[in-house]
Amino acid sequence: MTDTTVAAPAGTTAEHEERRRAAVSPSRAKDFLQCPLLFRFRAIDRLPEPPSQAAVKGSLVHSVLERLFDLPAAGRTEEAAQELLDPQWEALRTDRPDVVEMFSGAEDLAAWLAEARSLLSQYFRLENPSRLEPADREMLVETELASGILLRGFVDRMDVAPNGAVRLVDYKTGRSPHPRYVDEALFQMRFYALMLWRLHGRVPARLQLVYLGDGRTLTHDPAEEELVTFERDLEALWQRVAGAARSGRFEPRTSRLCSWCSFQQHCPSFGGEPPELPADGVAHLLTVQAV
Ligand code: SF4
Repeated sequence: MTDTTVAAPAGTTAEHEERRRAAVSPSRAKDFLQCPLLFRFRAIDRLPEPPSQAAVKGSLVHSVLERLFDLPAAGRTEEAAQELLDPQWEALRTDRPDVVEMFSGAEDLAAWLAEARSLLSQYFRLENPSRLEPADREMLVETELASGILLRGFVDRMDVAPNGAVRLVDYKTGRSPHPRYVDEALFQMRFYALMLWRLHGRVPARLQLVYLGDGRTLTHDPAEEELVTFERDLEALWQRVAGAARSGRFEPRTSRLCSWCSFQQHCPSFGGEPPELPADGVAHLLTVQAV
């Protein structure tokens, strides 16, 4: 399962989230696979996390690439993308004032913005946006599987060829994975492919990950049988999540990724104590599967 993310999309209010049925998303699914306790802190306790420079830079670059396609095809130049960076940064800073706390000073911020500019330049070495007419961008997709499990995710870009073939594209601001981890990298894309297939009855022809960190592209053409297997795996994963929620047992699983975890102070593996499991959070999580 990709992101068994049980969460509302970014930008929704807490009030809205309460009314919205929970769904499995690729990021939370990955969280559970990495560490069930991390999943719990994010999806059930919804503990706050400080913004990280890498994640916010990713959001900023994504927002510029999304806005770029608002321009007429001939105007989608690298200069135009660079010009969009400052206003998008202002918008992000207004929306999330806490992001300024990530920087030690003006120099730190300038270096970070320079990195974002360099990622945008890299994008133009990989694609020519003047030749693309996306069918959708930042597309919210939601579908309920036959098992009653609700899936939800955002696809960065969907291209549709004249013959109807669909390509799903996701931008990554990091580096492409080692061949050993390609399958892991494709988890999110298979998740989207499954949703689109179950929604429209046609398997996307191509899944494409565009890595701006090192200027590489990873493509995969999924087969129907592969998505059937993926769906089965995703359902099995959800059963593990639901079982943990019902028993209240979300075990910590330590790995090298603990170094980036914001919750060490609450984690028994680091001498911390988890807060009491919120019953309303568990009840909301279990709305993922219709009965
Ligand atoms: S510190 Fe590691 S083991 Fe603990 S919750 Fe975070 S990811 Fe899990």
